[in-house]
Amino acid sequence: MLKDKIAIITGGTRGIGFEIAKVYLENKAKVIILGSRKESVEKALGELKKAGFKAEGFWPNLGIYKEIEKMVQTVIKKHGRIDILVNNAGIAAKDPIEETTAEDFEKIFDLNIQAIFRTTKAVVPIMKEQGEGVILNTSSMVSLYGQPSGVGYPASKFAVNGLTKSLARELAPVGIRVNAVAPGIIRTDMMKSVPEEVIAPLVKTIPLGRIGEPRDVANAFLFLASDMASYVTGEILSVDGAARS
Ligand code: NAD
Repeated sequence: MLKDKIAIITGGTRGIGFEIAKVYLENKAKVIILGSRKESVEKALGELKKAGFKAEGFWPNLGIYKEIEKMVQTVIKKHGRIDILVNNAGIAAKDPIEETTAEDFEKIFDLNIQAIFRTTKAVVPIMKEQGEGVILNTSSMVSLYGQPSGVGYPASKFAVNGLTKSLARELAPVGIRVNAVAPGIIRTDMMKSVPEEVIAPLVKTIPLGRIGEPRDVANAFLFLASDMASYVTGEILSVDGAARS
């Protein structure tokens, strides 16, 4: 579905981003994963190699526009184009507002939304010149309903939806589609540390009766990146088993 497409995936070293990398590679894309540290990127590339895939990786600081620009230029020098940008890196928050500092709030926004602005800004001129491109963002179920604590996280994901819908309108005339996926509760490293007695009651609230797997989410990213979604833009696609909390 993605033969020879050049795809950059932020937060591609583990969890949902790593699974997106795998599903894109299975569908014959050329994949560049980004992570926050050299070691985690190299570890992920090693795991992909063991699974029979060849990918590339970089670790630009997503807080610094110049580092992102440099990474984009390196990709262009080698591949000549960028077809897909997946803005997936994100951090969560769970503290009540009294225990959340202004710095905590800013840190979440800096990665969950400002970094999306930076990577997108760096890639848009290239996609414009190509006359086509796909930008996909990882939102969250809480971008629709909020969450009872850790306000920075849902607030940043509401912003992700706003950016997605607005950029979809701005960039549609030049052939760039922009969509987001809003996962529910997904079994990533974060969830692995949650005890079974906490997970069981949660599962009861999910109509599909189970927690989502990274592959459930990655498949939505595959569809949206592919020509199967050629008339889909500005969409926030829920992948949450109809969980609504
Ligand atoms: P994860 O913690 O397993 O992976 C997060 C990824 O982001 C890692 O690859 C990490 O390298 C990267 N990252 C973290 N901090 C970074 C930084 N400062 N700079 C660059 N990269 C950084 O989490 P995940 O569950 O796979 O989450 C991926 C995305 O999915 C996030 O945007 C998250 O908000 C969203 N999401 C997750 C769930 C869930 O239940 N797991 C639900 C809804 C949305």
